[in-house]
Amino acid sequence: MKEIDLLLLSGDGVGPEVMESAISLLEKIQSSFKINFNLIEGLIGGASIDAHGLPVSDETLNQASQADSILFGAVGGPKWDSLPPNEKPEKGLLELRSSLGLFANLRPAILFDSSLEASSLKPGIIKDLDMLIVRELTGGIYFGEPREKKSSSAFNTMIYERHEVERIARVAFDSASLRNKKVCSVDKSNVLEVSEFWREVVIDVSKDYPDIELSHMLVDNAAMQLVKNPKQFDVILSSNLFGDILSDISAMLTGSIGMLPSASLDNRNKGLYEPVHGSAPDIAGQGTVNPIAMILSVGMMFRYSLNQLEISEKIKSAVSKTLDDGYATKDIADKNSKICSTKELTKIIIDHV
Ligand code: NAD
Repeated sequence: MKEIDLLLLSGDGVGPEVMESAISLLEKIQSSFKINFNLIEGLIGGASIDAHGLPVSDETLNQASQADSILFGAVGGPKWDSLPPNEKPEKGLLELRSSLGLFANLRPAILFDSSLEASSLKPGIIKDLDMLIVRELTGGIYFGEPREKKSSSAFNTMIYERHEVERIARVAFDSASLRNKKVCSVDKSNVLEVSEFWREVVIDVSKDYPDIELSHMLVDNAAMQLVKNPKQFDVILSSNLFGDILSDISAMLTGSIGMLPSASLDNRNKGLYEPVHGSAPDIAGQGTVNPIAMILSVGMMFRYSLNQLEISEKIKSAVSKTLDDGYATKDIADKNSKICSTKELTKIIIDHV
């Protein structure tokens, strides 16, 4: 297999600490599975502001466009909080996503048995939950023009072009074909023309995927069903606005922010993989950050960009086994847990891969 150019953007706060866990995992995979990585380090966020005066430099954007895949830690922190919004570390991530055309955001919600008690829902409702939200990330009401705010009124525009709906629908159907073969498309087609259009295009695309079961749900009902019976879902497909809200509901079903991976993909499945959490300045430098969100993000990279399902599954099972054995970082520990540092938990997981 060809060498994979992998750009590592650690960022700020706990970003470098979780990236260290990812690198140890990649080294293990390299030696066990005969895959070669060329690891390239780049700067983003506060680290880039300190070095170049910008949250992301042209050099980093270039490195990202050349790389086969990108791992991202987290950005931000009190040191840069007083900067204007356009100069803040977080702007670096937004620029990176838009320059790479990462229009598909994939957020799995997986519940490990050991986290059953951490969720706010009853164990019976969420045990064995494993679903995926596919959210359109570069269109819809967040970007639609015209937009305006005056003292007497304000408005935004929710607009989708056919090609935007088609490509995100394909990501959802392709993802479902690697899972349980069900897509539920969420919209508000009883009220919004843009949602009616969304539904029609999704139905058109579904004709290319005869073995995937397609259903539709209004977004208000979807919010309710996620809390009432989340296990009915396999893949949820949604627009930018609805996906933003639904993915946060689904994230909380699983208990801890330190466990949630994500991927943002372009139209060739090139991706940026990152934990959902931020730079956690309150615990940075203490060696206690939970590395699981980052480790599962590496697992997603093997599934969605590198087409190595077996390795992806091995990573997920290694995390599951480690948690079942009672090992945990502080954020997910209960009274019976064997509390580990970031490095210790990483090592135990890697030993199981
Ligand atoms: P956060 O996710 O960094 O932290 C929220 C809380 O969760 C904190 O108490 C933190 O200690 C805890 N936490 C987060 N990840 C954890 C982990 N892996 N293990 C253990 N505990 C964990 O969110 P915040 O505090 O709102 O934001 C902090 C900074 O991060 C801000 O500057 C924010 O803008 C930035 N941020 C960046 C990203 C990103 O880089 N993608 C995302 C969200 C927030």
